Amino acid sequence: MTTPSVQPTIKPLTAADDEIAAALAEAYLPPLLPALAFLTGDLGLLRPHLRIDPLTAREPQGGLSPEQQEEIRALALTTLATYRDAGGQTPLHRKQAGGQYAGGQTPLHRKGDDALTAIMEFGSGGADLTEYTDLLTEELGIDADHRAPDWTAAEFDADDRAPVLIVGAGMSGIVAGHRLNQAGVPFVMIEKNADVGGTWLENTYPGCRVDVPNQSYSYSFAQTDWPQHHSPRPVLLEYFRRCADEFGLRPHIRFEHEVIDARWDDAAALWRVRIQPADGDAVELDAQAVISAVGQLNRPNLPDFDGLDDYAGPTFHSARWDHDVDLAGKRVAVVGTGASAAQFVPIIAESVAELVVFQRTPNWFFPVEDYHADIAPGLRWLFAHVPHYRSWYRFWQFWRGAESVLPACEVDPEWDGDRTRAVSALNDEMRAMLTMYLEFQYESDPELAAKTVPTYPVASKRVLVDNGSWAGALLRDNVQLVAEGIDRFTPTGLVDSSGAAHEVDVVIFATGFQASKFLTPMQVVGRDGSNLHDRWAGGEARAYLGVTVPDFPNFFVMYGPNTNIVVNGSIIFFSECETNYVLSCLELLYRGGHQSMAVKADVHDAFNAEVDAGNRAMVWGASTVNSWYKNDAGRVTQNWPFSLLDYWRRTRTVDPADYHLH
Ligand code: NAP
Repeated sequence: MTTPSVQPTIKPLTAADDEIAAALAEAYLPPLLPALAFLTGDLGLLRPHLRIDPLTAREPQGGLSPEQQEEIRALALTTLATYRDAGGQTPLHRKQAGGQYAGGQTPLHRKGDDALTAIMEFGSGGADLTEYTDLLTEELGIDADHRAPDWTAAEFDADDRAPVLIVGAGMSGIVAGHRLNQAGVPFVMIEKNADVGGTWLENTYPGCRVDVPNQSYSYSFAQTDWPQHHSPRPVLLEYFRRCADEFGLRPHIRFEHEVIDARWDDAAALWRVRIQPADGDAVELDAQAVISAVGQLNRPNLPDFDGLDDYAGPTFHSARWDHDVDLAGKRVAVVGTGASAAQFVPIIAESVAELVVFQRTPNWFFPVEDYHADIAPGLRWLFAHVPHYRSWYRFWQFWRGAESVLPACEVDPEWDGDRTRAVSALNDEMRAMLTMYLEFQYESDPELAAKTVPTYPVASKRVLVDNGSWAGALLRDNVQLVAEGIDRFTPTGLVDSSGAAHEVDVVIFATGFQASKFLTPMQVVGRDGSNLHDRWAGGEARAYLGVTVPDFPNFFVMYGPNTNIVVNGSIIFFSECETNYVLSCLELLYRGGHQSMAVKADVHDAFNAEVDAGNRAMVWGASTVNSWYKNDAGRVTQNWPFSLLDYWRRTRTVDPADYHLH
């Protein structure tokens, strides 16, 4: 039996009207008419009075009124019944069959088609998408993988060069491997773990799930049938495993191998890479290029507390969860209240005897009602039976989550409000709204509210996703929130800065990662002996577009400096953009018969000055609250300060003038 494709095939629509109507009762409506207009080519379905209002886009059903919803469902039912009665044919299909449209695609599939733009504009609530349509067509990914390379190494007689070496087979490594495979570029992937999946393999803590919507947190070219809006870790791991299988990557991967160092040999124009297998001696491999796809959030940050060594009970970090420690009935301390703690605290709170949560800085939360919910059966049925509805749903998620919150994160130098609490009127409005959300939840416990409602500006730190489970956990009788700092550990527990002792059986560190230490512990030595870690000492990691570094020829970083997003979009989008850029660089090398390329220092420096200024103008750069976005000197080394469109544009193709080519 062959494994079904990651991308499910659409099932024939033969259901009776009442079955379709029942599914439509659970449909998500904002992308439904766009999907049907795309399917049928009937733009008359895009009735102006049924368009969502962007101002209410975040409300359930995009803020559509019950009357609008009813009319959309009725229109959809008629359209789908006609489609069914025509045997799954539409006027567009008939033209296609009659030979007017070649290649199984209609004009609607093409970038820049006017009708496609009109559908997108309707779906966005009337935005002017002139600049966005190409990006959005790629994101839709309907019947075409628009980001696939349109060249092969063989065309340039480059298919017998030394392999490209990808370090890491997580989310970024998989897309890089897939694209190299498509282009016929020889490559090897080195993975320290025994399987693919990266963060989704390593993080096994209870409640681990993706906190951006799954339809966005998936490859544009491998959209799939998700069971939940924010799927749990096992589902995500399975997705990445299946992608690796389907893209034929496993034969290229050396599992349980770790790159020790990579040294650039200028004379040979090769990276000499030393690799340590789990068993046996280190091996050497020559690579024409190295792509680091090692991830950024996988080296646990374990603070050095006084007395920690004396503590007698078990301790572990959230990303190295010790499943041998049974927490049931125990007194447990959790240090840290970031994204990881927010996911597992509500779960372990149900079985432990007592839970003491040590909070240093409270979080802002975006309410997301369906955070833990299954995708309703009717909606899932429609995804399975209505061609392209799933992609239009992704379009909707992408658009809604893309740039919409960004304006509320920009610093307004003219704003004369309290700058410790907000950076603009819009940011202040968002603060007021999210404050209301939190205060409502802690209504019964004003003391807890005082400790947990932040006062620093929203989006200075990562805003977490919530459906009430965090407050629900903190309000439990067996849970105590300690907002005082940790003074020291004792053999039996912790003492907080007020002097209160907390006796506990187990301590869990949810203290995040050493995010500023990019690419450690791997050593990378470039031209003239330049060491990347020296270059980036003190957490001063910088790269051009987050990808290339002067003096490190043919070395490409994925999820590198300043490519993290705070409030908008999915990190997979960035990985796809970075991969496009790397492939464009390789094409430039091959097409010109070059052996190496290194970004020019002035191009790199000018870009970084722009990014630094951009980040200072955003709330996460301007606010003084501590966050993993900044290095010790207070510079934001993690975040991309501009729009997704901007990053996509800059990474579409390499500009040869930016590089020294040899
Ligand atoms: P984190 O957000 O960095 O949170 C670490 C927590 O530990 C913070 O509350 C921090 O307090 C606290 N802390 C650190 N050092 C401390 C010390 N010395 N004393 C007391 N408290 C200390 O780490 P995380 O929760 O693991 O998440 C990291 C990132 O991973 C997230 O921002 C996100 O990008 C990603 N992530 C994603 C998901 C998802 O999508 N499902 C889930 C988990 C993580 P301060 O706030 O004061 O620093």
